[in-house]
Amino acid sequence: MSNRSIELDDRVHRYLIDVSLREDALARELREETARMPDHNMQIAPEQGQFMALLVKAIGAVRCIEVGVFTGYSSLLVASALPAGGRLVACDISDAYTRVARRYWQQAGVDDRIELRLGPAAETLDALRAEGGEGSYDFAFIDADKSSYDRYYEASLRLVRAGGLVAIDNTLWHGTVADPTVDDVDTRAIRALNEKLLDDARVDLSLVPIGDGLTLCRKR
Ligand code: SAM
Ligand code: CA
Repeated sequence: MSNRSIELDDRVHRYLIDVSLREDALARELREETARMPDHNMQIAPEQGQFMALLVKAIGAVRCIEVGVFTGYSSLLVASALPAGGRLVACDISDAYTRVARRYWQQAGVDDRIELRLGPAAETLDALRAEGGEGSYDFAFIDADKSSYDRYYEASLRLVRAGGLVAIDNTLWHGTVADPTVDDVDTRAIRALNEKLLDDARVDLSLVPIGDGLTLCRKR
């Protein structure tokens, strides 16, 4: 009997992976390569990537945005879930990180559906709007610098269509959002956005306790 989400200890997490993860060899290789890099913990968990790919298919997404690419794990899975003719605009500021991503997109044969835009994501999102993209995207995933999360959320919400999804990563921020003794800039930004979303009548809302917390906002 349970009226709350299960706590995943190592054994239950292992079981979840064993009975549900369908990661292909290339995605696994990317995860293993990234694991050898210093900032490897920036990558989403594989079960979260699989969940996002399922979401993309479930809503029939064709046009997607990603804010924060890193070495490309989430973008690889989202792009692979798109139908022929699908498009993912991938935003990042790092040429070095995304060089790894581009290599894997190419190997997976999805590079032709991913448009990498290098530069501050806030500017890229503004540019997408200026190019007439308002209301034309189905799915946006926000996973870059946390202090700009509210800005990314507002910009993404304009860019997705009614019924589209804005997914925001790390909304449980290793649990620090619930710890009143923690008061750094990133934690404050995530807390503020979480509190704003609770009362945001523009969206349907669910904070899914997968990975480090994934908030789903469906535009009304
Ligand atoms: N979604 C990726 C994955 O699952 O592998 C992880 C993204 S990582 C947490 C955050 C990324 O945001 C980094 O690659 C970093 O270069 C990028 N970033 C940081 N500040 C940014 C900014 N102002 N504009 C665009 N990208 C930014
Ligand atoms: Ca993240």
